[in-house]
Amino acid sequence: MINSTQTIDHTLKKTFEFNAFKPGQRQVAELVSSGKSAVAIFPTGAGKSLCYQLPALHEPGMTLVISPLLSLMKDQVEFLQSKNIAAAKLDSGLPSRQYRQILEAARLGDLKILMIAVERFKNERFRTQLRQMNISLLVVDEAHCISEWGHNFRPDYLKIPHFQKEFNINKTLLLTATATSKVISDMCEKFSISQEHVVKTGFYRKNLFLRIRPVLEKDKDSLLRQVLAGKPAGPAIVYVTLQKTAENVARMLQQHGFDAEAYHAGMKNEQREDIQNRFMAGKNGIVTATIAFGMGIDKQDIRKVIHYDLPKSMEGYSQEIGRAGRDQEPCLCCMLANRSGIALLENFVYGDTPARRGIYHVLNLIKQSQQPFFEVRAHSLSKESDIRLLPLKTLLVYLEMEKIISPQYTYFEKYSFQYIKTAQEIINTFQGKRKQFVHTIFKYAKPAKTWSHLNIDAVIEESGSQRQRVLTALEYFNEKRWIHLQPKLAVEVFTIDNPGFNIGATADKLTKLFKNKEKKDVDRIHAMLEMFEKPQCLAKSLSAFFGENLDTDCARCSVCLQHPPIILPAHELPPLENHDAAALLQPLKEKALPDLSADLATRFLCGINTPRLAQYKAKEMPGFGKLEQYSFKVIEQWVTAKL
Ligand code: ADP
Ligand code: MG
Repeated sequence: MINSTQTIDHTLKKTFEFNAFKPGQRQVAELVSSGKSAVAIFPTGAGKSLCYQLPALHEPGMTLVISPLLSLMKDQVEFLQSKNIAAAKLDSGLPSRQYRQILEAARLGDLKILMIAVERFKNERFRTQLRQMNISLLVVDEAHCISEWGHNFRPDYLKIPHFQKEFNINKTLLLTATATSKVISDMCEKFSISQEHVVKTGFYRKNLFLRIRPVLEKDKDSLLRQVLAGKPAGPAIVYVTLQKTAENVARMLQQHGFDAEAYHAGMKNEQREDIQNRFMAGKNGIVTATIAFGMGIDKQDIRKVIHYDLPKSMEGYSQEIGRAGRDQEPCLCCMLANRSGIALLENFVYGDTPARRGIYHVLNLIKQSQQPFFEVRAHSLSKESDIRLLPLKTLLVYLEMEKIISPQYTYFEKYSFQYIKTAQEIINTFQGKRKQFVHTIFKYAKPAKTWSHLNIDAVIEESGSQRQRVLTALEYFNEKRWIHLQPKLAVEVFTIDNPGFNIGATADKLTKLFKNKEKKDVDRIHAMLEMFEKPQCLAKSLSAFFGENLDTDCARCSVCLQHPPIILPAHELPPLENHDAAALLQPLKEKALPDLSADLATRFLCGINTPRLAQYKAKEMPGFGKLEQYSFKVIEQWVTAKL
């Protein structure tokens, strides 16, 4: 164990076995060790984790780390354990015995570092246990997720400042690679962190050659091939917006003899892993990918990052180009740009704004509840209310902040498993009444292709046992590795704290909140385009966006190399009156009658899928997405007049 007289330098060498701090690390570690809350903004790979790992060892209590990704947690815990530091992660996939052991160790003060996903806080029991722990430091990794003005807002992160107060944690450390000045001040305000305690390391990298190549949509493919064939040679990532584009572009490149593969979130996990592994090992591969490709890509020699489509935001752009040239050798970051992708980007935003009608629906369910509880089955509520999953989560967080509901716990409605041993082998391990009980469990496990699905209610009824006993048995089999258990269909349980809320006024207020967010998000897209068209050094503009001032121009971006002025060509669209609204909407009208709202019709024409449109199989109708090149607002006005 560390004693307080040992310095952080000593710990760095003895425990972590590093010779020196990387830029910024010492400053953050010293701030935290002297009792301050702080923010560390370093680029990916610059060593943010050490900023909490080291001071954690000098704290009397435990350090609680909130991290958005299971795989990131796993890596960090393994790293810490390899340095003999008592660290663990708590996730819902753990067998219950192990879960309890970790909590027990945390309560007894035997753990220095505990990592959790933010969802853990939804569990009322976990919150009770937290109160019994001595927590010295709260760490939020990927902290930009907390800001609604950031590019990767996660609704549950909004509640972290409340938890910090609720659990009396005196110090907070926020870690992120990308935060604009606005996001930084937002984060500082939410956690009462002084601006002086924001530690930033340089963002600008002189080995990145930033290029914007204005190009018409029809000429993009040939320009892409030309850029790929050009210098510098080596591995390349081509970023696109849509999954189908990733596949089309990969196919086009293959036909021209390039070694290209597509990668997106719609593909199977194993396939994705294969492609990633090949790319990581290769010297020349090309991956055409959506932004799903990135996290955990720590390849040193990526020579080109090409944006085939416009990036979604400045933060996204900077992260994507940030994957190039970790080896400090020159790389090309080239954007093939025009204005025809703008409507598509905007539509991502519009698609995430729930209609007032959907918000009202959710509020009404709470209002009408006969019990003091509100149970949320996310997928079915999403369908019923026609609100996508992410904004539905946001809505629930807003309702918590309005003090209408509060989360209690999550349970699973269904359990499935794969056999590792046979049912008979498992049954034969037991005797007497137990054997009978285990027999009943497997009797109601309905086998499908690979998974067997358990009818828990039938087991409860026939055995006369409680639900908990059945679950304990299943978890035991899982721990013994006789089966591979998977809980399904999460049900989130909330208590209704204020059933007397005014439903109309609340619906208005929340609708307005979402509309404000929508406007900000759309404005951000336009601000990004303005920046790309500005006759100013791109590296300078980009750095300024993240609050860093470059004294001189980079002398190597497309603006500095005298390619200006960059004007992104617009796609000439035929006048809307060339389209027949009634005919385009007819098949949808037949399904959605009696009331097809202007909002739903607009989403349909703009190709924005919603849970309800998915139910109508709207994607198969010829009118779906027919007008996706036009701006949402323009279509909305046009349709409103026609309906
Ligand atoms: P980030 O979270 O900023 O992307 P990480 O914390 O994951 O970066 O660190 C990236 C890598 O740098 C890790 O492999 C880590 O072990 C290593 N590292 C961190 N600090 C140091 C240091 N002072 N000296 C050498 N290597 C370090
Ligand atoms: Mg990190």
